[in-house]
Amino acid sequence: LRPVVAVVGRPNVGKSTLVNRILGRREAVVEDVPGVTRDRVAYDAEWVGRRFTLVDTGGWEVDASGIHLRVAEQAEVAIELADAVMFVVDATVGATDTDEAVVKLLRRSKKPVVLIANKVDDNRSEADAAMLWSLGLGEPYPVSSLHGRGTGDALDAVIDLL
Ligand code: GDP
Ligand code: MG
Repeated sequence: LRPVVAVVGRPNVGKSTLVNRILGRREAVVEDVPGVTRDRVAYDAEWVGRRFTLVDTGGWEVDASGIHLRVAEQAEVAIELADAVMFVVDATVGATDTDEAVVKLLRRSKKPVVLIANKVDDNRSEADAAMLWSLGLGEPYPVSSLHGRGTGDALDAVIDLL
């Protein structure tokens, strides 16, 4: 059975863009606006000869009352089923309360986590990534899912956890 890697994080941080980058094709639906409800979607993926199942956790309905809860529910199921987690944070925004809520779930799960500091499109944004050490999840991997920057190092880290 292939190991399962779940990609979790709040809406619009670039999870689906990252999944497409890893797959090398456009399969996960990328939304410019958060708020489309979609199920978790699993893909066959491979990195340096290691095959694994990559799970994109889809968008959540955004409503003022329920966003935290919905993010937590979706993330919780995905984390539960995963052997390792890619936790995606938008480095240009920094850690939000919603991110902190997911961190709590990750801690409780004791699953191995690679922290993806996404949207680091250039060297100038490297400092944004370093800010995410504050989440207490270890080294933030600066990545631009849009341009492919840093994804190799992040995937190496994921494979090391499987
Ligand atoms: P998801 O909701 O977490 O799956 O996020 P999406 O993959 O749908 O992306 C949300 C938005 O962020 C889209 O407009 C993407 O083009 C954009 N985005 C994703 N990754 C990056 C990145 O590395 N850099 C920049 N600048 N934008 C990104
Ligand atoms: Mg998505």
